[in-house]
Amino acid sequence: MEQVKARRERDRSRMDSGQVSSPKDLERMSHELGSLERRISDLEDTELEVMEQLEEAQAELDRVAAELADTEQQLAAATQERDNRAAAINAELGTVSAERSTAAEGLPTDLMSLYERIRGSKSVGAAPLRARQCGGCRLTLNASDLAVIAKAPSDEVVRCEECSRILVRTSESGL
Ligand SMILES: [Zn+2]
Repeated sequence: MEQVKARRERDRSRMDSGQVSSPKDLERMSHELGSLERRISDLEDTELEVMEQLEEAQAELDRVAAELADTEQQLAAATQERDNRAAAINAELGTVSAERSTAAEGLPTDLMSLYERIRGSKSVGAAPLRARQCGGCRLTLNASDLAVIAKAPSDEVVRCEECSRILVRTSESGL
């Protein structure tokens, strides 16, 4: 566009300064000036269109950049939240593990190995017997099983007929 404008200026100044004297040349240059003007006008229209497109693209870029910044912020917050929870879970795991060690102290080895064996297949090795119901599988024990359990010495290990878990007798067992 600058080249076209420069050419127009050159032609104009040549015409204005009277360097071109022949009417035929003047006619030709006038014609050329006309087409240069149209060419400049077309180029200006195109430039305007391109600038509008550039503005739209810039606005879109700004919008996407803001969205990205927002998403990155959310990710950072979620990551922080995950780390906090993991730290809390690890701390709780440490506490529970220490409590378990304390609770297991002094228990007979054969009882512990039975418990671990059931726990390996059922994930919970022992369950409370509450209101005549096994706390592990929720089966309500029948009268004869309950009678057997009621008669068993307190240090005897009793187990659920249904799920094999160790049943822990309590004051709420309903015996
Ligand atoms: Zn059971």
